[in-house]
Amino acid sequence: MTDLRRPLVAGNWKMNGLRADGLARTRALVDKAGKRPPAIDILICPPATLLTTIGRALGGRRGAIALGAQDCAPRTSGAHTGDIAAPMLADAGCRYVILGHSERRGDHRETSALVRAKATAALDSGLTPIVCVGETAAQRRAGKTLAVVRNQLARSLPEAAVARPFVVAYEPVWAIGSGHTPTPAEVGKVHGALRAWLEGRLGERAAAVRLLYGGSVNGANAQALMAVANVDGGLIGGASLKVDEFWSICVATAGNRKTTRRPARKQGGKVKR
Ligand code: PEP
Repeated sequence: MTDLRRPLVAGNWKMNGLRADGLARTRALVDKAGKRPPAIDILICPPATLLTTIGRALGGRRGAIALGAQDCAPRTSGAHTGDIAAPMLADAGCRYVILGHSERRGDHRETSALVRAKATAALDSGLTPIVCVGETAAQRRAGKTLAVVRNQLARSLPEAAVARPFVVAYEPVWAIGSGHTPTPAEVGKVHGALRAWLEGRLGERAAAVRLLYGGSVNGANAQALMAVANVDGGLIGGASLKVDEFWSICVATAGNRKTTRRPARKQGGKVKR
């Protein structure tokens, strides 16, 4: 039996943290992971100013906890003051980059077309993009959740994603930082729809794409949310700033680990297993 989707718990620190507290948090996490390594992937995405410092504290590329960024530019170099290119992030030790977070789609008016260009740049630089999608409260009330997330994903995923690893995060905008979450059944419905959409686009490869849930995940609700079918981990904002809380989410996710079989292949009309 092959585990196609090792769960991933990613901490998005957003615009929080100076060197001293970022380092203290990282060292405490590294210590916990060293004593009791959970059978999942763990990722920290600090602000860009701390990437090098936190990357070093994580033990570099070989460290058990991966380093990621919160955004990247769609171009790889040039006269773009204030932007950070994907090759620079890879050079700084990043393995992942969060793209299309609703705070960037909202605060910076990022369109899905821009997210797609950024995801292309990330893939070309060897980074794994975490592409975020999610509906607003008004869209949810109007019953448009599935249409919105499918549409965002269709427009945000680059052609190159057909052949390279990427992660999708379902983050309802109304759940982020609000203390409210969809029910596990609602999360299951959205994740099931995203998986089905990916199957239409990628075929068998869709089974390897990790789908994260994000939005007010904490130590108390992680167990129920991470147990949902097609939830392969979480994107964690506020709770990732508290070491014990973040760690309890990692432990709950590891405890709920699901083993995902590679889909059966048809051969000569027969299903090969
Ligand atoms: C996020 O912003 O990615 C997020 C999930 O935030 P929070 O966990 O604080 O809701």
